[in-house]
Amino acid sequence: MPYDRRASPMPPRLAPIDRTMRTLKKAILSMELPAIEKISEEQEGDAFQVLIGTMLSAQTRDRVTHEASTRLFAVAPTPDALMRLPLKRIERLIYPVSFYRNKARHVKAASRRIMEEFAGHIPATMEELLTLPGVGRKTATLTLIVAHESTDHICVDTHVHRIANRFGWVRTKTPEQTELALYEAVPKRWWADVNLFLVSWGQNVCKPVYPLCRTCPLDRLCPKVGVRGQGSGQVTR
Ligand code: SF4
Repeated sequence: MPYDRRASPMPPRLAPIDRTMRTLKKAILSMELPAIEKISEEQEGDAFQVLIGTMLSAQTRDRVTHEASTRLFAVAPTPDALMRLPLKRIERLIYPVSFYRNKARHVKAASRRIMEEFAGHIPATMEELLTLPGVGRKTATLTLIVAHESTDHICVDTHVHRIANRFGWVRTKTPEQTELALYEAVPKRWWADVNLFLVSWGQNVCKPVYPLCRTCPLDRLCPKVGVRGQGSGQVTR
């Protein structure tokens, strides 16, 4: 459903976007990279491995995604190798990622399509990426940003959705609405950074339950929209 600003008026106070993003940019430097950025760094930006890692990451903890991707790419680092791997072998390699049977089918079928339709290259447009089996909008946007260095997209997962609402940047019910609203709210120079900054923050500080507001460097900037309980842990800097 399209985002309707009139139906969802912005809350009265917003975390100022430039100051917030500049603060996050410094604060996340000491934090571990999220799984997909780590895979990209280790695999020198290999677009195929970024895509497959992102497909495996849905509803799966970062550590599990990273370990499963590492096992899989040690055996099948290219689409040609992965499409030839028996389904059961893929399942064993990626277990225990969530929905590993479905994901095994999807990564094998996507690899075949990449070989047959795209000559082994990872598509660089949203429309083409969405034709791959098992690839939805979140996977496509993250692949475009991380693998193809797109600055034209914002990738929204549950962390980005939750924190953008806590900041008051958007007032939305679903990640899909949040993505549309963020294109209006956030200056384009920050679009490609939104996912990395807010996912790192969500994993370490602005957690779903009991966010660490008392020691958060954004405490004075952030309106904490919808935050009820606050945790007592320390933000590591
Ligand atoms: S931890 Fe609290 S203060 Fe920090 S960004 Fe999240 S809601 Fe705002």
